Amino acid sequence: MAAGSFSTDAILLKRIEYGDYDLIITYFTRSMGRMAVMAKNAKKSMKRFAGSLDPFIAMNIECSWPRRKNGLPILNSIELENPFSHIRTNVAKTGYASYWIEMINSWMEEGKPDDDLYNLTYYVLESLNSGHIPMEILSLLFQIRFMALSGFTPNLAGCGRCGLVIDEIREQKITFDLKAGRLVCNRCRHNQPVENGIAVSKGTLKQLAWINTTDIHRTDRLKFSCTAVKEGESLLEGFIPCHIGRDMKSLMFLKRIRQPYQL
Ligand SMILES: [Zn+2]
Repeated sequence: MAAGSFSTDAILLKRIEYGDYDLIITYFTRSMGRMAVMAKNAKKSMKRFAGSLDPFIAMNIECSWPRRKNGLPILNSIELENPFSHIRTNVAKTGYASYWIEMINSWMEEGKPDDDLYNLTYYVLESLNSGHIPMEILSLLFQIRFMALSGFTPNLAGCGRCGLVIDEIREQKITFDLKAGRLVCNRCRHNQPVENGIAVSKGTLKQLAWINTTDIHRTDRLKFSCTAVKEGESLLEGFIPCHIGRDMKSLMFLKRIRQPYQL
């Protein structure tokens, strides 16, 4: 590696055209977090980076630091690690991966490494590509762990207002307040209504808590019922845009194209 350069593992998040010849590529890198780099002449000479500048691809990149103070690092070379090519040939898989990538892109601070989030992202993309875990379950797993790593775990252990734990709450379905990111028991709800809430079964809440804390390599053993998947999706896909503070295009696309989960 030349002086003034660096290399890191990276997952491609997005690319945009820059002028007639260049591309600006945003990566989730292992050693520097989210980072944009300049791929000079990448539009013209496709040979150089052939087939490796598509979203979700995992690679090792080698870049030079910019000479100018506010310039972007220059991408010199790429070593493909995993192209995850089955994702891009399947519309539903592309939909899920795009949603996860948009979460990372909207939330991650630039230049701040996060090894756990990198490993999690790599794991879900790899499993989505191989198909050994249903994509709906992977998405629940990614979303809840992403929230936990970002410090915004929704509180699913009990009523967020009075503190009653879910086993002590009598009703079978408990309201989740999407805005506040917490459960609200019936009694508390009668005292002060929840504006934007959904009803979620206790069983689903326990399963979500479980996939958040268990060894990630054991998640393929857990069987979700169709109801649990549906409720988990409503909870997390309602809660996350509330916290990101805007609608997410990729999520709207995903909702339009996906089929109902079947066992
Ligand atoms: Zn309560």
